[in-house]
Amino acid sequence: MSKTTEQIEISERRSAHNYHPLPIVIHEAHGAWVTDVEGKRYLDFLSGYSSLNFGHGNEKIIEAAQEQLRNLTLTSRAFYHDQFARFAAGLGDLTGKDMILPMNTGAEAVETAIKVSRKWGYEVKGVAAEQANIIVMEDNFHGRTTTIVSFSTDPDARTNFGPYTPGFKIVKYGSAEAIREAIDANTVAVLVEPIQGEAGVLVPPDGYLTQVREICTENNVLMIADEIQSGLGRTGKTFACDHEGVVPDIYVLGKALGGGVVPVSAIAADAGVLGVIKPGQHGSTFGGNPLACAVGNAVIDILNTGEFQERATRLGVILHERLATLVGKGVVTVRGRGLWAGVDIDPSLASGRQISEALMARGVLAKDTHGSTIRLAPPIVISEEDLLWAVDRLAETIESF
Ligand code: PLP
Repeated sequence: MSKTTEQIEISERRSAHNYHPLPIVIHEAHGAWVTDVEGKRYLDFLSGYSSLNFGHGNEKIIEAAQEQLRNLTLTSRAFYHDQFARFAAGLGDLTGKDMILPMNTGAEAVETAIKVSRKWGYEVKGVAAEQANIIVMEDNFHGRTTTIVSFSTDPDARTNFGPYTPGFKIVKYGSAEAIREAIDANTVAVLVEPIQGEAGVLVPPDGYLTQVREICTENNVLMIADEIQSGLGRTGKTFACDHEGVVPDIYVLGKALGGGVVPVSAIAADAGVLGVIKPGQHGSTFGGNPLACAVGNAVIDILNTGEFQERATRLGVILHERLATLVGKGVVTVRGRGLWAGVDIDPSLASGRQISEALMARGVLAKDTHGSTIRLAPPIVISEEDLLWAVDRLAETIESF
């Protein structure tokens, strides 16, 4: 039995089947390349769902983590620690917001945004007790907690996890009019992904985010941008909202904030919003821990150089130019922005899973989402040569069906 077969057999037998991984067992990774337990190398075109924007084993991030590991890893928020102030101020400056609230996973940060906006609704906006509603989008993906799956429109994510949390109104993604119609006096927030990642890298129509911003401002409703997957360089800007010059009331961040090393998430907002949270009202034992903050500080330093945003823009143009040539040759549509693309394969040709498996055999790791869509999101450190090589492997793979 190969090491790969053995590891997969044990993993499948001894862990819940909540994922359907590609049949590869990874041992190590550097930059954009991973090596499996058999010694075979693959180009990573998923980046841990955009958590590895700065590459596997990024030197600055690993150095910061190693130094912090030796000094101090956990205090809990019962005490201050010497990485926290820099993280709070640094992330506040990066987002242009007064304050941040750190958590660990993306779903926890989304939950935090929901709790903060409800509290703001009752205490600042003056919504009657228990009446707050939040407008969310069809085909959203914000995580896996019971409250978040309550407003998912994906049957896999939602079915049999009820009873569901009330207080959400679901409207069509990309339609500002649908938001305008759904808003009422009890609406406290609109929660939106600037680009819907899990739905297949769906980019809304130009001007949509600007209109969402205007509607929220007109109605005294908080605009919450879930930038967990779209933010921190992936699209060629620090935040996907930047493409329209839109500033939400609450940024929700995660994934790449932890540099692919530790789970780090946070929300960022002004004092008029985040100030509603008082001692004892929200928290997390590990949220804002010294290791997380040290890694987050390295990530913020990297983003402040603008180097990765510029690189994602430049390489993104090349990626999208190349992918466009595949349309009509087994590819139906390509969407995306920066170094991020959703590629719809002709469903009569192959499923996304079949394409992903065949692509893996050619040395590129990408993952399907929803039927025949492949999502491409290589680490932004990828070289132009490797990027083009991978797109050639994708073309070859599609041609082989
Ligand atoms: N929000 C968005 C936009 C995401 O893409 C994800 C994860 O894919 C989440 C939230 C949930 O993040 P986590 O898996 O860290 O809880």
